[in-house]
Amino acid sequence: MKVRFLGAHNCESATTRLVSLLIDDVLALDAGSLTSSLSIEAQLKLKAVLLTHHHYDHIRDVPALGMNALFYETSVSVYATQVVRDALASHWLNGTIYSSFLEKPPQNPRIKFTVIEPGKPFKIADYEILAVPVNHSAPTVGFQVTSSDGKSLFYTGDTGLGLSEAWPEVSPQLLITEVTAPDRYEEFGRLRLHLTPGLLKEELLAFQKLKGYLPQVFLVHMNPRQEAEIAAEIERLSDELSTPITLAHEGLEVQL
Ligand SMILES: [Zn+2]
Ligand SMILES: [Zn+2]
Repeated sequence: MKVRFLGAHNCESATTRLVSLLIDDVLALDAGSLTSSLSIEAQLKLKAVLLTHHHYDHIRDVPALGMNALFYETSVSVYATQVVRDALASHWLNGTIYSSFLEKPPQNPRIKFTVIEPGKPFKIADYEILAVPVNHSAPTVGFQVTSSDGKSLFYTGDTGLGLSEAWPEVSPQLLITEVTAPDRYEEFGRLRLHLTPGLLKEELLAFQKLKGYLPQVFLVHMNPRQEAEIAAEIERLSDELSTPITLAHEGLEVQL
């Protein structure tokens, strides 16, 4: 499996993009920067877009994907929970803010939405996908993606403390999770359900205790203003746990 980080931050500028991951050029996880990162040809290759939750920075490009599908006379397959579908339908693709691509045209909507249920594995092409609830301020699922050769990654989406409740359900070789702010914002992390390096440490220790190993870890959703501080703290954590933990960046590719 090849993972490309299209967007790795929680704020957008000319040098940072909102969270989106691309697996083997065909599977997208979250849609913070899909249309802004991918050529039309690359967008047309997508077999599915999986959304972890309905916060803006994770669904931002769904309307734009729908509009491109319209003009290229195709459709885009989107998978997420009912909560995400409802949020998109009532607040965004509602015929006022943007066209109702979830319903139009009736016989062949530009966005083909599949409602998924946590804990029920499903297949997209040769990948087995499992959605697992994580602890965030909106209902959120992480996705374990397993390829036909048995390689497996778990992308948590946004999560706070309590991520460890997902550990019994997954056994990834690669963990992609979030660290939004440095340790001096731990109180914010606890309240708003995001991770800091110190909170991530608790979750990783719980993983190690349960599974007897630590996966390779890549981080996204960093606040660009505090990224240098986060990087220094993560370097110390990586040394302390004797395991590689890497801050992802736009354009980074990882082979699993
Ligand atoms: Zn969020
Ligand atoms: Zn977010």
